[in-house]
Amino acid sequence: MKKKIIILGSTGSIGTQALEVLQQRKDSFSVEALTAGENAELLVQQAKAFKPKVVVIANEQKYAFVRQALDLSIEVLAGAKALEEVVQRQADMVLTAMVGYAGLVPTVKAIESGKDIALANKETLVVAGDLITKLAKQYGVQIVPVDSEHSAIFQSIVGETHNEIEKIYLTASGGPFRGQDLNFLQNVSKAQALKHPNWSMGAKITIDSASLMNKGLEVIEAKWLFNLNPSQIDVIVHPQSIIHSIVQFADGSMKAQMGLPDMKLPILYALGYPKRIISDFPRFNFMDYPQLTFEKPNTKVFRNLQIAYNALEKGGNMPCVLNAANEVVVEAFLNDKIRFLDMPNIIEKTLDRVEFKTNLTLQQYIETDKESRLIAHSLL
Ligand code: NAD
Ligand code: MG
Repeated sequence: MKKKIIILGSTGSIGTQALEVLQQRKDSFSVEALTAGENAELLVQQAKAFKPKVVVIANEQKYAFVRQALDLSIEVLAGAKALEEVVQRQADMVLTAMVGYAGLVPTVKAIESGKDIALANKETLVVAGDLITKLAKQYGVQIVPVDSEHSAIFQSIVGETHNEIEKIYLTASGGPFRGQDLNFLQNVSKAQALKHPNWSMGAKITIDSASLMNKGLEVIEAKWLFNLNPSQIDVIVHPQSIIHSIVQFADGSMKAQMGLPDMKLPILYALGYPKRIISDFPRFNFMDYPQLTFEKPNTKVFRNLQIAYNALEKGGNMPCVLNAANEVVVEAFLNDKIRFLDMPNIIEKTLDRVEFKTNLTLQQYIETDKESRLIAHSLL
């Protein structure tokens, strides 16, 4: 029996790497559905190679192009609503590789229809982690993280069901601006921020990595995946990105997962879970990395990390506000509308202006997201 996979965001960095992984494993996996936001050409190419039952292009204006390019054995749908529908089709697992808040509702629908989730779309857990984890429990589905740090923790706690986590250390590369001061950051360009030292990723997460918001989002993601308090989650800068994260147990023992920085590894682990699948990925050579080093993150310079911790401490709708404001400022920075250091300022002001609420329903999260975006936009 092949494992049936649906991929949300198949044309992105994670999506294309997932298809690379699956290309060589067509005996064990079948791709049931592919979806993309804008890149209709690549979606068509992928559909021709993987023959899914259905594809979705979120931009409805590109429907005709996709429909014409594919033969009728593949169903073609368009629009955001179609994403919510296809995740309910028959499959074993949904890989959520869309970027941003747009992943929330499709992920909810996938869980409600009983699909296990290979979760790359961390924003979903940031926005509504309580709701998502509650639903996953209710519907008996497994959420397997794809994010490399969370995959590392997940892999390190296999077999530790009777042992509580004392603490986790999420490792951070530090991004392109590691070691710089506020003076330097004031005038950094978009091109500089988009140059990540160790990973090649989509634009949004690359900016988040440069500002350390990515690590802030990952702290919140870890809270929900592993049921931790903020005080149990530490961030340590590890520029080589070889140790992907570390768990510490009650006896003081620590377990880490290591490997070369290649997202194909956590993707393969999530798709294959609970089985490890043979791969020919390059193996680690210790002599290439004679020194693994560690530093404390500088939250005075990279304020986003502290702002994210504060939002998590406060809880309720605050992480949802944080995420919405962050998506607005990252887009504005990518469009040259604001400067690098405007980002944390606007996020903080947005958090101050949205009324604090707890125990939100999905609808209330959707409303909070909308309101926060309006406020963040007004502050640009
Ligand atoms: P990306 O920008 O390269 O790709 C995003 C994908 O989502 C594309 O296929 C795009 O078409 C689709 N998409 C975007 N907006 C959409 C919308 N409104 N409706 C439907 N589809 C839409 O992003 P990425 O780097 O692959 O990241 C995807 C997710 O994985 C993010 O949440 C990111 O934080 C997470 N992640 C990525 C990496 C990485 O190495 N790239 C690592 C860890 C986690
Ligand atoms: Mg990560």
